[in-house]
Amino acid sequence: MFKAILIDKAENGQSVALADVADDRLPAGSVTVRVAYSTLNYKDALAITGKSPIVRSYPMVPGIDFSGVVEHSDDPQYKVGDRVVLNGWGVGEKHWGGLAGKARVDGGWLVPLQAPFTLRQAMGIGTAGYTAMLCVMALERHGVKPESGEVLVTGAAGGVGSVAVAILARLGYTVAAVTGRPQESDYLKALGAHEILDRAQFSEPGKPLAKERWAGAVDVAGGNVLANVCAAMRYRGTVAACGLAAGMGFPATVAPFILRGVTLAGVDSVMCPKPDRLEAWRRLARDLDPAVLDGLTHDVPLDGVIAAAGDLVQGRIRGRIIVPIHKD
Ligand code: NDP
Repeated sequence: MFKAILIDKAENGQSVALADVADDRLPAGSVTVRVAYSTLNYKDALAITGKSPIVRSYPMVPGIDFSGVVEHSDDPQYKVGDRVVLNGWGVGEKHWGGLAGKARVDGGWLVPLQAPFTLRQAMGIGTAGYTAMLCVMALERHGVKPESGEVLVTGAAGGVGSVAVAILARLGYTVAAVTGRPQESDYLKALGAHEILDRAQFSEPGKPLAKERWAGAVDVAGGNVLANVCAAMRYRGTVAACGLAAGMGFPATVAPFILRGVTLAGVDSVMCPKPDRLEAWRRLARDLDPAVLDGLTHDVPLDGVIAAAGDLVQGRIRGRIIVPIHKD
């Protein structure tokens, strides 16, 4: 038996509880992992609260991320005792996920734990941090360099935003951080932001084009925020768009794209091909100071995850949550 958060269908939607689950209920897969740590991402919180239709089949164990130790393997790439990390691939949505004592997955979905990170630090990063790295790589791919000019990060006090600020600052970029929580200014400055901007400036419908300011941007918000960011990009600037915290809409015009040559680079972590994942984790090892993680993470036990999910969807969580399950 192992403990797991279990989401099931109920008359008025779904039920969610911490349950004891028998090993023989684990789904099919070539590798069984004893989960050491999981985490709580925005998508997990949507799944647990039922706020968006993330769960594709019931019953479901949520958790799009886990790190742990291989307990059984039919995959020649992994042997018992290997330390592994999983991010995405539909795990926690259509395949049982990481908010559990055990997980069984396709070995092709796993990546080896990247030195120098511990299993705990890998979940301090999690999908949010790995997505932040994919966003930085997208900016670089489109030629945004520290000397190109200021870069902007929206939703900066959240998971993706916090890690993006920390990475960009370490790489030498001048980073402006957008937040709806001015009380987090000192936290964001400690991560490396040189300026804090009030989210309210970005939340209302704006003009098709604004004064050119940003050479690059990482946007987790979508909606009016993304439209206003695009409108204020410098000539040939790039926006890496990965989220919808402000909404799924994109009420913009084509003006920034056809008059300023702005690039809107979409970033997806879930189905991201393995070579790019491995590159993102290598880059995280190089460009994210592991010591910074201590300042942007806090622990929530498995039996506190359901309450924390409610806080997360309401934007009340700072940085990243780590869920210790079998500590290493
Ligand atoms: P968090 O909840 O940790 O952070 C989201 C942050 O967005 C909040 O902390 C808040 O930051 C800001 N925010 C909240 N509401 C609004 C709003 N109405 N308008 C503008 N900003 C808002 O989530 P994550 O960082 O884990 O994820 C951020 C987004 O990225 C989510 O939409 C998520 O689904 C998406 N995502 C996408 C991935 C992909 O593969 N494409 C992978 C991972 C995440 P503050 O308080 O500082 O304003």
